[in-house]
This record gives sequence, structure tokens and C-alpha cells, in this order.
Amino acid sequence: EISHDIVIVGGGAGGIAAAASLLARMGNLDIAIIDPADIHYYQPGWTLVGGGVFTPEETRRDMASQIPGGVRWIRAAVAAFEPEAKAVILEGCRVVKYKKLIVAPGLKLNWAGIEGLEATLGRNGVTSNYRYDLAPYTWELVRGMSGGTALFTQPPMPIKCAGAPQKAMYLSCCEWERRGTLKNTRVEFLNAGGVLFGVKDYVPALMEYVGRYGIDLSFHHELKRIDGPARTAWFERTNADGGREIVEKSFDMIHVVPPQTAPDFVRVSPLANAAGWVEVDQATLRHVRYPDIYSLGDVMSAPNAKTAAAARKQAPVVAENLLRDLGLIAEPHEAIYDGYGSCPLTVERGKVVLAEFAYGGRRVPSFPKWFIDDLKPSKTAWLLKEKILPPVYWQAMLKGREPMAKPHHQTAA
Ligand code: FAD
Repeated sequence: EISHDIVIVGGGAGGIAAAASLLARMGNLDIAIIDPADIHYYQPGWTLVGGGVFTPEETRRDMASQIPGGVRWIRAAVAAFEPEAKAVILEGCRVVKYKKLIVAPGLKLNWAGIEGLEATLGRNGVTSNYRYDLAPYTWELVRGMSGGTALFTQPPMPIKCAGAPQKAMYLSCCEWERRGTLKNTRVEFLNAGGVLFGVKDYVPALMEYVGRYGIDLSFHHELKRIDGPARTAWFERTNADGGREIVEKSFDMIHVVPPQTAPDFVRVSPLANAAGWVEVDQATLRHVRYPDIYSLGDVMSAPNAKTAAAARKQAPVVAENLLRDLGLIAEPHEAIYDGYGSCPLTVERGKVVLAEFAYGGRRVPSFPKWFIDDLKPSKTAWLLKEKILPPVYWQAMLKGREPMAKPHHQTAA
């Protein structure tokens, strides 16, 4: 039997940031991170891989190099939680006990949820920026197209980085516009939801690009089936009266974003809410039923935008509340997460609409308007996305350096 004071499930954006955040506040903690993966990915970079700006290799590092010094890495997958026994069970049935548990295994991309998709991913014009090995294929397809039909899909919410499905589309259109082939290309955005972007203040800036690129928008269209060799996709359209019908579309290229759920081992665990996500208090990020468990990142239930930017602000909140609960720091009030999330919408090569918002869709821009006006496409925001945010991720967020992520404190309501 293995035992550690603090056990973290998942060494992704949230898990590594939480470990680093803990260690930044207090050395000499007994921490273990459980993750079976050899590679840690900077997924926000995949949009720029699909847009021909980054190489795939720039978005990956060996997991070993990202585990903070002094933290034990248990290279295994967690299969189950036993919160009453303060234990997690690994695949192969090893038991790991803890005093405090942080749950951060991300979400599950449900590729199998679309009939025929897995058989044709990476071939027949079918691609997705949601996978490391497929994002380069997006760019290959974009460069190879001189006309025809390009479809871009978006599944039902919640998904990670809700802007990413349309970011892929805008960068593709921008390239076709530059090459002069956009006029020969029919571009359709088929969205299972009913709005272009969940925070309505940002929609006008996006609609300008929809108009400029001549994109055909369809809401309430959910991808259900795809036949790669026949280059045909089927969508379920929900009509205003609630009726459903199947719509068939042919394509030369299709960028698919898969449906997304909580990981299976979380969904079936006592930690889950009815929808499958780890059920936390949205301010303290502590589990609502198990006070020794905290969660951050894509796997948890709070209604924030599932982004690495959100995890960057969540990590110090989890770290402070956990250390406070252990009696190791003398902070009178709990740390509070305000729901911050960010989505740099790459509307053209060289310009970004930098959406930053908190719970309730309240805009919370980090920068003064003269520097980056968040409601307008901005060259400065593109430079932030391309040049600044990757080092912020690797050198600050994953290292526990938090100049812009100090948590608020207030008495919990
Ligand atoms: P992840 O970073 O996915 O890490 C989860 C970790 O848990 C992995 O290492 C995995 O191996 C491990 N794990 C899984 N199962 C188990 C198990 N059973 N046991 C142990 N470990 C397990 N965010 C932004 O902020 N800005 C963006 O512009 C942006 N763009 C994006 C574009 C794309 C195409 C994608 C795919 C994502 C984008 N994101 C963006 C979202 C961001 O990448 C995620 O929100 C973030 O990585 C979530 O962190 P996480 O730690 O919850 O999960």
C-alpha cells in the first residue's frame, strides 16, 4: 500500500499547476501525482498547429520534465475512488491512500460517440485540432484545398475551449482568403448549440468575420454519423418545435470536434454529480460531500469555461484552501475562484479577439483598453497568444509563479 499526504490525480494543466502552487507556498510537502501519460501537452497550442503557425513538437514536453522536484510521479491510471477509505485504486488494483486528494484528470473526448468517425480520422479529409496527431492534418488539408466544401462542427456544451471549433474555421478561411480560393469554397459552421459564443458581448466581433469569410452558420445541428470514403456527414437538426430530422451534407474537408464527457472512472464514482463531473463548490473548489477532496480543470462541475486559463486561476485557490484545511497556513478566509476563463479567438492570422470572463459571462479583461480592447480583433492579443502565453504556461503556471493569479479571499457564503 502506498500513502502520501497529498495525492493528485492527473498531471495535465491543472494537476501540475496545483502541485507547483502548493510547493510555491510550502516546501517539504509529501505530494504524489498519478498519471499514466509519458507526455504533457500544451493543448491551447493545437489551434496554431492546425493553423500552420506552430509545429506539433512545440506543444509537447516529457511528463518527467514537468513533475515538480520533490514530487513523486506514480505512472499509472486511476481506476476508482474510495473516498470513505481516503484511497484511490489504480488499474491493476494497487491502492494509494491520502490525507488530501486533488482530482484533475481532464475530460474524455468521445470520438466513438459519432458513428464512423474513428475509422476515418486523419484520412478522407476528416480532421480535428482536438488531437495532437491530427492538428497537422488540418493544416495539410487547408493548404491542399483550392475550392469545394469545408464543414466545421461543434458538439453540445460543455466542451474544452468552447471557441476552438470556430478558431479552426477562421484560420482556415484566412488562409483561403490569402490564396484567393475562399470564393470557390463553401464554408459551413454546424453547431449543436444555439449561439455562436456563450458570452454574448463577443458575438458582434465574431459575426464580422462570419460575414467577411462568407460562412454559412447553422445552429441546432449535431453531427451523428460520418462516412469518410463517401465524404458525407449526417447531422441531427432540432427544429423550433422540438422535432428532429437528419440532414445530409457532403464535404471535401471536415473539421470535427468530438462530444465531451467526464472520464468514465469519474462519471461512475461517488465524486460525480448527476452529469458526471466532480461535484465541487464553485467558489472554493472543495468537494461538496467529501471535504478532503478538491478538483480543478476540465473534470469539475463549476460552470466556468473549461480552459487552461481557468486552471491557472484555480490552482492557487485549491492550494490555499487545502493548506489552510491542513492547518499549514494561517489565512483567516477561504480562497475564492471567481469563474475566470479565457478564450483567445484567432479570427485571422495575426489578430485575436481576447475573450476573458468570469461566472455569469461577466467580462473581466486583464489589460487596459488602450493595450488590448477585448471587444475588438487585436494584433497585440495575437502576439500574446503566439509569443507570451506559451511561456506563461510552461515557465509560470506549471512552476507555481503566479503574479496574475493571486486568489481573492472572503468569508465563504
Ligand atoms: P488535461 O490538461 O487534459 O490533463 C489531464 C491529465 O490527466 C492528462 O495528463 C491525462 O493523462 C491524465 N489522466 C487522464 N485519465 C487519468 C487517469 N485515469 N488516472 C490518472 N491520470 C489520468 N485553453 C486555454 O486556456 N486557451 C486556449 O486557447 C485553449 N485552446 C484549446 C484548443 C484545443 C484544440 C484544445 C483541445 C484545448 C484547448 N484549451 C485551451 C483547453 C485546455 O487545454 C484544457 O482546458 C486544459 O488542458 C485542462 O487541464 P486539465 O488538467 O483539466 O486536463
